[in-house]
Amino acid sequence: MTDLATLGQRIRHFRTEAGLTLDQLGATVGIAGSQLSLMENGRREPRLSLLQGIASTVGVEVSQLLDSDPPTARAALEIELDRLQKSAVYQGLGLPVLRPTRTMPEETLESLVGLHRELARRAREAIATPEEARRANTELRHSMRTQDNYMPEIEELAEEAVRAVGHSTGALTHRSVGLMAERLGFELIYVNDLPHSTRSVTDLENGRIYLPPASIPGGHGLRSMALQAIAHRMLDHQEPESYVEFLRQRLEINYFAAACLMPLAQSVEFLSGAKNDRNLAIEDFRDAFGVTHEAAALRFTNLATSHLGMPVHFMRVGEDGALYKGYENDGLQLPTDVTGSIEGQPVCRHWSAREAFGRQNRTTEFYQYTDTPTGTYWCSTQTGTAGNEQFSITFGVPFADAKWFRGRDTTNRAQSRCPDESCCRRPDDELSTRWAHKAWPSARLHAHILSPLPSGTFPGVDDTELYAFLDAHSAKESE
Ligand SMILES: [Zn+2]
Repeated sequence: MTDLATLGQRIRHFRTEAGLTLDQLGATVGIAGSQLSLMENGRREPRLSLLQGIASTVGVEVSQLLDSDPPTARAALEIELDRLQKSAVYQGLGLPVLRPTRTMPEETLESLVGLHRELARRAREAIATPEEARRANTELRHSMRTQDNYMPEIEELAEEAVRAVGHSTGALTHRSVGLMAERLGFELIYVNDLPHSTRSVTDLENGRIYLPPASIPGGHGLRSMALQAIAHRMLDHQEPESYVEFLRQRLEINYFAAACLMPLAQSVEFLSGAKNDRNLAIEDFRDAFGVTHEAAALRFTNLATSHLGMPVHFMRVGEDGALYKGYENDGLQLPTDVTGSIEGQPVCRHWSAREAFGRQNRTTEFYQYTDTPTGTYWCSTQTGTAGNEQFSITFGVPFADAKWFRGRDTTNRAQSRCPDESCCRRPDDELSTRWAHKAWPSARLHAHILSPLPSGTFPGVDDTELYAFLDAHSAKESE
């Protein structure tokens, strides 16, 4: 549907081409010239019968009036100025709204539109600062916690989408994902030259979803990415107006993709069966649906509380000990900064999320009980590698729910007093006395912008690790 501003511009364009004044055209179609002027300015909607009268008087088809393109380059500028002046950013300035007159030079119009575009661009840029991103992230995590990380509307949408292409259980195939796209009028196309800053690009006009090449490792990632692109359309996402909205859309498309790959009914059936057998394991859930360990663990957090009645926690931790992603509704105290943000914060060294990095056998899950100030938790951690970096995926429950899981009989047990700094944030007194001011490390800059890690004697260098390293090596070298 053509917007009113463009329709008005097109009426004016064809009226002046026909050499008619407002009053002359108004008289032929039976309305006052002033009424017609309101329509040409996009401030009143003409009825279809009136459009037919106007079209035949100026000698064009109604479809020509209704075309969505501005009639001239100048009209395009006037329409854009009108739209930009209506934006929240401009309205917030409290400045007057300017109506371009016919005598206004095109240069003036171009300059105004240019300034408005830049104003809008800077406003968009400002909301993408790291501080804003962290604040928005925290807000979203808190809001998901209140709904137990569960979104029933998206579950329903995903179940329908999957059922419609005839998928019943097991791994969702590439072909099924392709069919889902087809039903929405889209074709999936794999290309080598996607812009670096994009994960996928959807051509709305030609009905194409561009994705990275099918040959990249991990077919799950590719199906997931296609599903995420499809989700934007199914959920009717519009261009986000704030960073929170951008993040919420990201969360929703990730949720939709996961709910397609591990549909509600099948997943709950699988997990309930395993729970009854006291044999719940993320690795089994992962393998049954052909997804990554992280996807399966995250999906479990959607369903654990809502359908299996247990609170949970989830963490993705880097080899440097920093928390990349986290969720809990079981009271586990995730590390936070002063703003309540968790991303980039160091996780307790005694938690299984970090202990697992020290294991020899990493092909299976690592189980551990951890006593913390808010209670005892049972956790299961799987380590993996992405690029050159190692990471760990941890899923856990309070002690009372450990009984449903394989690995409940582990003898691994650790004590954690974090956030008390004497737990593991401050180096051992003896080592401190031995090594303080007797070494000079060179800090490595952190790649991720979310937060620098520890603040020891040297910014960015972890004293505890540094001193332990020095100690171990000095002992070895002097042997
Ligand atoms: Zn600790």
